Amino acid sequence: MSKFTDCALAFRFSAIDRLPEPPSPHLLKGTLVHGALERLFWELPRGGRSAAAARKALDAAWEALENGPEAEGLEFSSDEREAFVRDAWVLVEGYLKLEDPDTVDAAGVELLLEAEVGGVMLRGIIDRLDVTPGGDLVVVDYKTGRVPSEIQERHRLGGVHFYALLCEKVLGVRPALVRLMYLREPLVIETAPSDQALRGLKQRTAAVWAAIERSCAAEDFRPKPGPLCDWCSFRSLCPAFGGDPSLAGDLAAAGTSR
Ligand code: SF4
Repeated sequence: MSKFTDCALAFRFSAIDRLPEPPSPHLLKGTLVHGALERLFWELPRGGRSAAAARKALDAAWEALENGPEAEGLEFSSDEREAFVRDAWVLVEGYLKLEDPDTVDAAGVELLLEAEVGGVMLRGIIDRLDVTPGGDLVVVDYKTGRVPSEIQERHRLGGVHFYALLCEKVLGVRPALVRLMYLREPLVIETAPSDQALRGLKQRTAAVWAAIERSCAAEDFRPKPGPLCDWCSFRSLCPAFGGDPSLAGDLAAAGTSR
């Protein structure tokens, strides 16, 4: 949904033409840190989640990731590789400054939930679902990027409200809190999902889906130039940058985006 509202043309290239995107060190670092924290909570009981255990979890996650498909095409020198893992450790250390993992009761990690909302099947992976001592559920989302501005923050919280909605639909219980953990700063931002927020989300889901259907029917996916263009993998095809989007089909068949 956010991809479509950010830029309909980039959405088309990614979700409809399914053009492959080049590997990104930024995304890979996020995957690595999430993998380390997943191991810390899923493989170790409370009482065993020390900083040393977190470091071992990071090293094990890197070993699993380094030669896998997500790292394919990224060619690190040994210095770059070392700096990459060192920075991932800074993020894990940031997490350890935010809470003591031994105090956490995690009901699930990397939890895939799916439910129909307004005629649309929504799927989401929750980084961690906690149970508080009082029995409430808390959705935890780790962020490895920078803390966003106030406007972006509302956008991001809208995104994580999806997880609250999915929990309510699948588990029959609305989480008491959605917690974003920004590991770089480190900083926590929390929100309690209200009736109004979830109702708004359902309406927005239906509206965005209707807009996607209209774009598909008219084959009309317009570029929306903005700050995200700096990270867009499809600039060479984008008319806002002198590209020709009609080449997307040929590139998809060739398995490349440029
Ligand atoms: S370069 Fe910008 S406008 Fe063009 S497709 Fe990418 S995000 Fe959209």
